[in-house]
Amino acid sequence: MLDCLFCGIASGQIPAEIIQEDSRTIAFRDINPQAPAHVLVIPKEHYVDLAAVAEAGGGLLEEMGRLAHRAAVAEGIDRSGYRAVFNSGPDSGQEVPHVHAHVLGGRRLSWPPG
Ligand code: AMP
Ligand code: ZN
Repeated sequence: MLDCLFCGIASGQIPAEIIQEDSRTIAFRDINPQAPAHVLVIPKEHYVDLAAVAEAGGGLLEEMGRLAHRAAVAEGIDRSGYRAVFNSGPDSGQEVPHVHAHVLGGRRLSWPPG
């Protein structure tokens, strides 16, 4: 999709620190990390939010989950623990309208989130 930041990262037109990649998904470091490890997992194809990718089916959401875990392993936080979060819709504060899972870890994370 034209003018989409994360489509730009997926196509290589916008630079990012990519740490994992699979055929339909990609994981890269968040530019403004909220924890010692903060990775974003996206489908390469454009979907606006979790609802869109869930409704599309075809196993893409499962692939995102798998890459989120692989990213956690790569970041060394799979044993200490991590959180994988989708912001979806206005109340969540979703800012980038290309679905992404945040993978956060490397410190004790507070719950519930603010
Ligand atoms: P959300 O508020 O859930 O839409 O999260 C968007 C996330 O994208 C934020 O955590 C931003 O720090 C992150 N972000 C914005 N621009 C970039 C970029 N160019 N590269 C990596 N992460 C980014
Ligand atoms: Zn996009």
